[in-house]
This record gives sequence, C-alpha cells and structure tokens, in this order.
Amino acid sequence: MSNLTVAKFGGTSVADFDAMLRCANLIKNDPANRLVAVSASSGVTNHLVRLSQAEVSSQEQLEILNKIKVIQLNITKHLSAEEELNVLVNNLLADLANLAAQQSESHSLKTADSILSFGEQFSSNIFAEVLRSIDVNAQQFDVRQVMKTNSLYGAASVELDQVKANAQTILKPLLTDQVIVTQGFIGQDGLGNTTTLGRGGSDYSAAILAEALGADDLAIWTDVAGIFTTDPRIASQARPIPEISFDEAAEMATFGAKILHPATLIPAMRQNIPVFVGSSKAPESGGTRIQQSVDSNPTYRSIALRREQTLVTVKSPAMLHASGFLAKVFAILAKHELSVDLITTSEISVALTFDNPPNSTQSIITGVVVEELEQLCEVTVEHGLSLVAVIGNDMHLTKGVGRTIFDNLTPFNVRMICHGASENNLCFLVDEKEANPVVEKLHDCLFA
Ligand code: ASP
Ligand code: MG
Repeated sequence: MSNLTVAKFGGTSVADFDAMLRCANLIKNDPANRLVAVSASSGVTNHLVRLSQAEVSSQEQLEILNKIKVIQLNITKHLSAEEELNVLVNNLLADLANLAAQQSESHSLKTADSILSFGEQFSSNIFAEVLRSIDVNAQQFDVRQVMKTNSLYGAASVELDQVKANAQTILKPLLTDQVIVTQGFIGQDGLGNTTTLGRGGSDYSAAILAEALGADDLAIWTDVAGIFTTDPRIASQARPIPEISFDEAAEMATFGAKILHPATLIPAMRQNIPVFVGSSKAPESGGTRIQQSVDSNPTYRSIALRREQTLVTVKSPAMLHASGFLAKVFAILAKHELSVDLITTSEISVALTFDNPPNSTQSIITGVVVEELEQLCEVTVEHGLSLVAVIGNDMHLTKGVGRTIFDNLTPFNVRMICHGASENNLCFLVDEKEANPVVEKLHDCLFA
C-alpha cells in the first residue's frame, strides 16, 4: 500500500461548514490522507454531557437537542446532498432523544456513553459528505467495528490486540482507493455497548488507529499552529516549535501543555510513527513535527504549566533510620488508585504532589485517604499550587541548569524542586497566584 497518513480533526476544525471545507481540502491535497478521525463539532460534546445527566428536565432535553440540531443543520444546508444527510441527522437525533428519555428514567454510565457518542457520529457522517462534495471518494465508517475497549464507561481502555486485528482485517482493505472518515473518542465493549475513551480522547483514538494500521504518519489538526514554547496566553513571546522529540513532547503533554491528549504519543512512540500537529485554519503556518530523533536538542525546549496541584507532606520521626515507611505510604495511595507526580524527601518527611482534575469540586485527596495516612504519620494537605515543568534535553548532565532557572526566580517562592530523575525536565511548584508571572519571567529568560 502507498503511504498512509491518519488525520485527526478536532472540534474547532469541524465546527462549521467553512471549517469542514478547509479540512476536506487538506485531505484532498495529499493522497496519503486516507483515514480521517473526527471529533464532534465544537460545543456538541458539552451539550451531550449535559443531556446525559440525571437531573435534566424534559424541557431542557428538548432545548439541548435543538441546539445540537441547529449546529449540524447549519453545516448540512451548504451541501447538495442536504436532504439525504438530514434524514440521517434526524434519525440520529431521534435515537438520541430516546436515550435521553431513558437516562432520566434510570441513569447509568453506560447510557451516558451512548449519548456522548453522538457528536462524533454526526460529524463523521457530515464530513464524509463534505469530502464527496469536492469530489473525494469518501465513506463514513463506524469505528466501533474496530475500536474494542473494556467496559469502563466514561474512560474505557482500548483492547489493543483486538483493535489491531480488526484494523488489519476490516479497515485496511477499505483504505486502498478511498478516504475513510471515522469517529474519534468512541469505542465498543465486549457486550456490544458503546464506550468513550475520556474527554479529549479523539487524539488518542487517531493514534491507536495509526498504530493498529502501521500508518506512516499521524496528523493532528487543531486550531493552533503546533506546539509552542509555552502557552501564548501566558507569555506573548511564545513561539511554535518546528520539531521536538517524542520524549520531550510526552513530558509536555503530561505536564499540562493542552495541545495533545496526554496518552496520544504512547501508540505513536510504540510504533515509531511521526506525529504532525498543525492548524487546519492556517496550514500554511506550518506546525510541529514530533518524532523519535530530531536535529536540534536544546537544553531548554519549552515550559509547561499545570494548575490545581495538591501537595501532601507526610512526616514521621519513626522514619529516622527506619525502612519500609515509604512502602506503607505508597500502599495506601495505590489502594486508592492515586497517582503521584512529584516526590521530594528528607530524612523524616516526604512531599508528594497529585494532579487535581480541572474544575473538580472535591480534592483528589479525600478525608479517607488522610485518615489512613494519619495512622502512620503526620499529614499536611495544601492546595492552590501550580506545577511548572521546564522541558529540554540532557538537563541532568548540563552544568548551570539550576542556576539559570532559579537565579531568574528570586522574587518567587519555589517549592519541591525535582531535578535529575529525568533528562528531559526540571519541575517545581509555585503558588497558583504566581504561576503566570513565573512562566512569563522564565520564558523571557530562557527563550528571548
Ligand atoms: N468530542 C470529545 C470531547 O469533546 C472528544 C474529543 O474532542 O477529542 O471531549
Ligand atoms: Mg476536542
């Protein structure tokens, strides 16, 4: 088979007709683009999340269904196949209305996932038609035939072996002479129920499909021209990074750079598939190429920021010259499935950070966890902190890294410096209120 690129378009790239048409032309311009995974049109998944909630009144359900309909019909009205397409859209809306009614009778996570899956079903069908309208031989394909998952509704895990086998037998033969348009974000469990991979999961879907097909490239089309040295909303001097290694980009995604779903690079790295990130609005602005090895390996590549960190400090005089204390602490954390990000230790105390999911109302460290830890030691929990990660290369072997970074931060209180474990990052915590000034200052110094 000739070169194969898997292309993924995010919600803003398929938000309206003009956006879809731009993306369709991008696909048409390169014959390697034969598998397309799309997100739901901007805003649709948020509407669906609301629709899937137990407390929504039937009046509100109708309003939400109507908002979704307006978004989709505003696209289909530009197409000559409008009428046929609207039959399909209306059928999907009717199924959606039934599921919403079912959900208010008896709420389940399973039905919620079925509801959430509609955004991608609309956009994939419509995008395939937009491609046909510019004479691309395109077909919509239901990804659930291939994307098998476990039954953890809302955050399902992909059954990779099954996906690979299905991709080879079902999907690959379809890719020889046409463009296949499929859904990101959704899958199907062993019981035949629809699942979702978690919010923002379309990037990950595309990466899994690229891996399963042994694609040559993965292109993630979004609304920014690639990965930037830091968030341009924080530092106006931030600039796009033309190329970056997998390791650096993975650190960036993990430590808060919002551009890629953090799991996206894992399949690409396993199969060594280069990933391009660019803007479907301005493809001429270029983008970022992420691959195994790159020509430039600067000490400082970028700065990532992750807010809403929880810092837990455990302290016990019993730790003095003792062994096994940390194992007990971690056993409690493991039991509660808490994932630790940064750790620093002294002789009798250990500080640990945890990522609080954005907008969550409850701290990730619950009262129960604190009580269990208190059986072992004194426990302090602090909120309102941000994690700054400076990302680059050979940072553990480069002289003066600490000085270069921290000499510039003397006006700020810096805590929990983690340096040396990774060659690709140096991380620390700052007060939430100082996070933006710290990133701005550091960006000025390291990248000006
Ligand atoms: N539509 C889903 C969401 O908004 C998946 C995605 O866009 O990646 O979370
Ligand atoms: Mg999205």
